[in-house]
Amino acid sequence: MVLEYVNFLKNEGIDVFLDEIPVDKTAKPKKILNSSEKDIEHVEIKEESTLDLSKVDSLSLLRETIENFKHPLKENAINMVFARGNPDKPKVMFIGEAPGQEEDIKGSPFVDAAGQLLDKMIAAIKLTEKDFYITNVVNYRPDNNRTPREEEIKAFTPFLEKHIDLVKPDCICILGAVSLKALFPDVGGINKNRGKWLSFKGIPTIATFHPAYLLRFSEKKREAWEDLQELQKKIK
Ligand code: URA
Repeated sequence: MVLEYVNFLKNEGIDVFLDEIPVDKTAKPKKILNSSEKDIEHVEIKEESTLDLSKVDSLSLLRETIENFKHPLKENAINMVFARGNPDKPKVMFIGEAPGQEEDIKGSPFVDAAGQLLDKMIAAIKLTEKDFYITNVVNYRPDNNRTPREEEIKAFTPFLEKHIDLVKPDCICILGAVSLKALFPDVGGINKNRGKWLSFKGIPTIATFHPAYLLRFSEKKREAWEDLQELQKKIK
């Protein structure tokens, strides 16, 4: 059974599912903060309700609005990381968590090892350049590549929602727990929801594991592959 699955992956040309080098993206920051530093770290975020995006009617204006958004995450970041891919009604909009170091340097999402795996996952379901668009919930790199905090997710989610509104993808593919929580705060975790069709404002939406997680836990690649096949069926 396992051998059949391995052969199936090889035949599909997705050998990357079998031999990636794990990258510990979810590792805790090396620096342990003492309590006074923790207090400094605690940032006050503007209430979501004070953010009026009703006049933002283009992606270029959305990009500019995010660039002008005053947020503590911006202070340590080199670049604002917006998106890559086809922004004009793509078949799938992939939504990750937040930029890491390489994305921050290049100003483009998913260009690291996880991004390379994502590109191979995308190719494995036969999507071409014009079929997909990739963005993140949070547009600035959290320090030490840590997972964005709840208040950071909440601060950037209105931009993500507007981003989805403007791009109008046929389907959304959520990559990991952070983007699941941003778009569906009440449904529970990624293990419970992956592979199921949800609806985000009428757009069919499926969640799967984040590629960085798959690099750490390769035994989860089988489930991710099932989720991708579900997505492939839907867009055919
Ligand atoms: N992980 C993400 O969630 N986003 C990126 O852009 C890169 C890695």
